This record gives sequence, structure tokens and C-alpha cells, in this order.
Amino acid sequence: MTSTLPLRAEVDVLVVGGGPAGIGAALAAARAGASVLIIEQFNCLGGVAGAGGHGHISTYCAAGDRLRVVGGVIYEVARRLVEEHAGWMNHHGVWFEVEKLKFLLDRMMREAGVGILYYTFFCAAVVEDGAVVGAIIQNKDGRGVIRARRVIDGTGDGDVAASAGAPFEQGRPRDGKCQPMTLMFTIGGVDWPRVEAWRKDYHMREVWERAQRNGDMEPFQTTIMGFWWTPTRPDQVGINFTHITDVDGTRAADLTAATLEGRRQAFHAIDVFRQYVPGMEDCYLVSTPNTVGVRESRRIIGPVVLTEEDMKARRPWEDSIGYGAFLIDIHHIDGPGMDETVWYPEPGFRYQIPYRILLPQGVEQLLVAGRCVSVTHLALGSIRVMAQCALTGEAAGAAAARSLRENVTPRAVDVAALQAELRAHGGILTEDDVARVNAGRAWFFAA
Ligand SMILES: Cc1cc2nc3c(=O)[nH]c(=O)nc-3n(C[C@H](O)[C@H](O)[C@H](O)COP(=O)(O)OP(=O)(O)OC[C@H]3O[C@@H](n4cnc5c(N)ncnc54)[C@H](O)[C@@H]3O)c2cc1C
Repeated sequence: MTSTLPLRAEVDVLVVGGGPAGIGAALAAARAGASVLIIEQFNCLGGVAGAGGHGHISTYCAAGDRLRVVGGVIYEVARRLVEEHAGWMNHHGVWFEVEKLKFLLDRMMREAGVGILYYTFFCAAVVEDGAVVGAIIQNKDGRGVIRARRVIDGTGDGDVAASAGAPFEQGRPRDGKCQPMTLMFTIGGVDWPRVEAWRKDYHMREVWERAQRNGDMEPFQTTIMGFWWTPTRPDQVGINFTHITDVDGTRAADLTAATLEGRRQAFHAIDVFRQYVPGMEDCYLVSTPNTVGVRESRRIIGPVVLTEEDMKARRPWEDSIGYGAFLIDIHHIDGPGMDETVWYPEPGFRYQIPYRILLPQGVEQLLVAGRCVSVTHLALGSIRVMAQCALTGEAAGAAAARSLRENVTPRAVDVAALQAELRAHGGILTEDDVARVNAGRAWFFAA
């Protein structure tokens, strides 16, 4: 079938999906000397932070601490956002203008020599003799093939891995249901200092519950997941509040239904904000983003499946590629608010992430990064944040390029050499690295 399709490109490394994972992968592979093409269905990079309209990246530091545990590409992104006055940062993460992130990522790809093809949808993996050798894509030019010596799945949903026949799981073990989706929205006309003061005085859950008791609000939400604000857009706030349950991110009909419901909830929420939040009396909708935000879908099954027990026990891994540190953040799967399975770590918490969670079973020359790596449903609640998705991408990109140089499959790369390479680019992989990077606190806080 593929032989009848036109060949559109031939590269060393094809990165499918331009979210945090894809960004890390593309930059690392290109900086290691590979020819790289990144394809993306929308018109920007950033994934949830770009087309998803979500102006906040975490997690760079150990839980509740200023100890930095993440470096590499995604730290570079944060630093440049702050240096370009497009955002601000503290130990919880970086807050930024979404449009400026898109612009920065376009430039970073150009600087690294990464080719970008927007408006291009991945349709199917091209598999020969058990190895992924390219992708069938669809765009305005029609259907075609991109051939690649290595492919990195950065789709968040494991589209490439699933298409190639790699085994995967989805959702919570008892019924396969996934975390709710959220359509972000941005409001304008906000008096932010008054909102800030109100936030300090009120427990927001009580406010939404009061609105619901008064008959002014449908009970779709009981908490604010995020008010994302940057000083360069002082009267605008990105709102993480809509909450859509019983939807599957691998089904177009569900993505559509979630978007329709999210937009409806956004307008309804604005009515409630105007009535109940001091400083939002005159707020209005500026925009909803290009895509609804998906928190959970497929997870591949690799030679190692990282579990919540591994995380909580801070299990050491010889093939560590970096650290995670976020809480096990599960939004309520069956109703509003947070799930009972949420787990809040102690201060200083951090855990190592092994390279082997990027390797799908039964398929060669394919690496998987980001939200669809080999972890359990609960472990995904922590590792799914963007800095960790980006660092798995960065390791995948470096490993793809290295595997080409070593002429081996990614499964067989020299892991010690890969780790040295990641470290040379700022990666923090071990406790020695944590101690070295944090000696003298050689990083900034622009808050
Ligand atoms: C509402 C919401 C709030 C969140 N809040 C935070 C937060 O505060 N801090 C934080 O750090 N993280 C947060 N997260 C988690 C984080 O944003 C995601 O888990 C992370 O972005 C996943 O990165 P990724 O690169 O794996 O996938 P994504 O960010 O989903 O990127 C995948 C990319 O691949 C593209 N793609 C997918 N399929 C195809 C295809 N078939 N063909 C072509 N392109 C395709 C998509 O368009 C997208 O650009 C939040 C997530 C959501 C949904």
C-alpha cells in the first residue's frame, strides 16, 4: 500500500507530535547531528501549552522545595521565556504568554535545524520486519509517506506505537476510564490584584459550592485547577476550570463532545465569575484554544513499567534519564474536583525516571515519549506534567541519534554514554547531579 503513496520526505529521525515530548525529542536529536522532521496536526508547537492554550509548565524542582531537579531543553525554554519577558518563574514552574511560547519554539527549531511540517496528521506507522521505518501522513497535499531511520512518538496518545502494534493500556485498572478533559479558556477585563487578594482570603471550593446552592452554577466543578497569569498581560487570565468526564482521547467523537461541552462550561463559568469573584465583574471571554486538553489516554507497556510505588519509594534506576517530583495528580474521574487517589508528597520528594519506559515492546526503531510512556495509571498522574514529558522526549531524541551513530536499535544503546550526553546538555540524572547543580543555587527566580 505504501509503495503507491508519494514519498514526501526522508530523514534520520521523524518526530510525530509537537508537544513538550516532541520538542525535547526534536531538539536533542538535531543537536546530536541527526536530520530531523517534526510533524504536527495544528499550526504551532507546545501541545497542551501551545494549541491547548495552557500557559504554565511544571515541574522543575523537588516537591515544595527550591532544589532544582530538571535541566536540559525544558529548562532552556523556561529561561528564554523569562529572559524575553514572556513569562515568570518560581519553584512551582514557569508561567508565560502562550503566543510567545509558540514563537520561541518556532525559533528554537530553526536554530537547531529541525524541519517543521504543520497541518499534517499522522495516519499510520510503516512497519517492515518488525521495525517502524516511517509514517503515512495526511495533509493538504494529500496522503503520503515520510521515511525515517528512527521514529519518536510524541503524540501524547501513543498513536504511532498503537498503529505499529505495540501493546498498551488505557485508563484506571478497574474500568479503563481516563482522567477528565479540560478545555482551557482565557478571559480579559480582569482586575488581577483584587482577584489575588480574594484568592488569599477565600477557600474557592466554598465559593463554587455556594454558587451551586444558590442555583447559579451547575455542579461540573468544585475547585479551580489553575488561574494562569503573567505580568505582560495584566488584565488577562488563563483558566483551568472546565471538567469533562467519560471521554476517550483516542476517539474523535469524544474529543468533539468534550470540546462542545468545554465551550459551554466556559461561558457558564464566566457568568459565575462575574457574580462571585471580586475583580472579575466585567470579565469576558478572549479565546478558547485549538484543542481540548487530554490528561490521559494510552500508555505503552515497556520492559519496565514505572509504578506509583517506585515513585513513592524513590526507587533508584541505573538507566535514569532525569527526575519527576509532581504529586500524583488525578482529577476526579466520575465527578467534579479531585479524585480520592490523589497523593501529596512530602517536601523534597523526587524520583528517578528510567530510560526503559520509552521502549515499546515488540517494535524496533521506535521510541515513545511524554504522556504515553510505560507507567501505571496512578504513576501517570505525576509524570504527565510538561517538564517530565519534555525530558523523556529529550532522552528519546538523544537516544535515537545515538542509536544511529552506534548502528544499533534504541533498545541497545550505550546507556552510560547516553546519560553522559544528557548531562552535558544540562540534564540532572542522579543525586550527585542534584547536589552539583544546586550548589550555590545557580539558577534564577524571576518571581
Ligand atoms: C487541562 C490540562 C492542564 C494541565 N496542567 C498542567 C500544568 O499546570 N503543568 C504541567 O506541567 N502540565 C500540565 N498538564 C499536563 C501536560 O500538559 C501534558 O501531560 C503534556 O503536555 C503532555 O505532553 P506530550 O508532549 O506527551 O503531549 P501533548 O502536550 O498532548 O502534545 C502532543 C502533540 O502531538 C500532536 N498530535 C497528536 N496526535 C497527532 C497525530 N495523529 N498527528 C499529528 N499530530 C498529533 C498534538 O496536536 C500535540 O501538539 C495539564 C494537562 C491538561 C490537559
